[in-house]
Amino acid sequence: MKKITIGNLLSEPGKRVYGYLDILEHPVGTVERLPVIIAQGANEGPTFWLTANIHGDEYTGISVIHKVINTIDLSKLKGTIVAIPTLNPAGSRVCQRYPYYDRKDPNRLFPDGNPFKDKTLKSFDVSKVLRSEEDENLVDEISIRTKSQVEIMGISEDDEIDNLYEKFEADNLYPSIQEIIFKRLFAIIKESADYLLDLHNAFLKSIPFVFLDRVLYNPESEDQTLEEATALFKLTEEMAKAFGLTIVREALPEKYISKKLHRSTSGAALNYLRIPSYTVELGMYLDVEPEVVDAATTGIFNVLSWAKMLPGEIKKLTGVRVVAENESVRYLGHPRTSKSAIIELKVEKGDYVKKGDVIAIARDIFGREIPDVGEIKTEVDGYIFMFNEGIIRYPNEEICWIAIKDNHLMIDKWPKN
Ligand SMILES: [Zn+2]
Repeated sequence: MKKITIGNLLSEPGKRVYGYLDILEHPVGTVERLPVIIAQGANEGPTFWLTANIHGDEYTGISVIHKVINTIDLSKLKGTIVAIPTLNPAGSRVCQRYPYYDRKDPNRLFPDGNPFKDKTLKSFDVSKVLRSEEDENLVDEISIRTKSQVEIMGISEDDEIDNLYEKFEADNLYPSIQEIIFKRLFAIIKESADYLLDLHNAFLKSIPFVFLDRVLYNPESEDQTLEEATALFKLTEEMAKAFGLTIVREALPEKYISKKLHRSTSGAALNYLRIPSYTVELGMYLDVEPEVVDAATTGIFNVLSWAKMLPGEIKKLTGVRVVAENESVRYLGHPRTSKSAIIELKVEKGDYVKKGDVIAIARDIFGREIPDVGEIKTEVDGYIFMFNEGIIRYPNEEICWIAIKDNHLMIDKWPKN
C-alpha cells in the first residue's frame, strides 16, 4: 500500500489520520500550521487532493471537506484522499480573504510554471541587458523603444550599481513568505497528487460552478507537447463534467497569465504539475449554504467514482441551479453602468438573458431614474451566474457576470508576451 507522509503525519490503510503541517514561525514565536487529513482506502489507487479556504472568508469548502471525510466508506475507497480544510488559517481566523502576514492574493502565489517568465524578466532588466557582451543577443529581443528610453534616461552603466540592483531589487530573488510557504507545499503535493480540487466561494449572489482553466503547452519542451496537453485537457474536462455543476471556462491565455491565474492552487496543479485540477466556486462566501454543501459533496463523490476510486454511478446534483449544460461558456463582466448609481436588479442568478433584456434600473439616491442611463440592458446573450455585491455602483463597474458562448481553444501555447 502506498505510504503518504505529510509533515509528521503518515497514512494508514483503511483509516483517517489527522495532524498538522508547520508552515511558518511568526516573529512573536507562535507557529502557523495547516490542518491535514489523510483518509486512505483499504485498496490501492490514486491520490486525490482536496484543498479549501485559501481565501480566509470562504468557508463552504471546509464544510464540504468535513462531510466528504466523515461520510466516505473507506472499505470501498481505492486510493487516498489528502484534505487540507484551510490553506489560509491566518485569513480565516480574522474572516479576511488574505492572510494578515502577507497582504497579497494567496491564490496567485503558487510556483510559476510559465516557461517564458525568465525571458520576460530579463527583457525588463535593462541595466543587465546593456552591460555584458554575453547578453548582447538578448538586446535584439528588447525593443528599440526600450533602448532609446535608456539613452534618454541616462541610466548608469556602472557595474557596481548594476550589481546592487541585481542583488537587492530583483523581486524574483525575494519571494514573499506566502510564496515560500506555497513553494514547500507545492513540492509536497507533487510527491503524491494525481488529482486536485480547490474549493472556493464566489460572490454573495452566485450559483455554484466549476472554473475550467485552459491547458497551456510549450512546443519547445519535450514534457509539454500538444499531445500531452490534449490528453491532460480531456481528463480535466471529463473530471469537471463528472462533478455535475455548471462549467465556466477561465480567461484566454494572455489575461490568464496577466492575472496570475496560472499561479492559483488549481492553475499551478494543472499547468505546472500537469495533473487534472480545477477550482470549484461554491456560492456565497462569509457563510455556508447547506444545499450547496450537499451538492458539492455529491459532486466530489461523483469525481471519485469517475476516477474509479469509488464504486457507483455518477449522480445528478439536486438543490442547486445548473446552467449551460452541454454548452461551452466563459465569463464576461457585463453590463456596466456609465454613471454612479443605485441599482434595482431586474434579473436573478441563473437567469438566461438575451441581447436587449433589462438587467437593472439605475437610480439616484432619491429613487429617480438617472437620465441617459435608466434601463441598463445586456448587449450579449448568456446566463447570469453571479452579481457584484450590493446595490451601489460606480462608473464602469459591472452589474453582474454573464456566462457567454466560448469558441476559443482550450489547449493553447503559453503566450510569449
Ligand atoms: Zn476564493
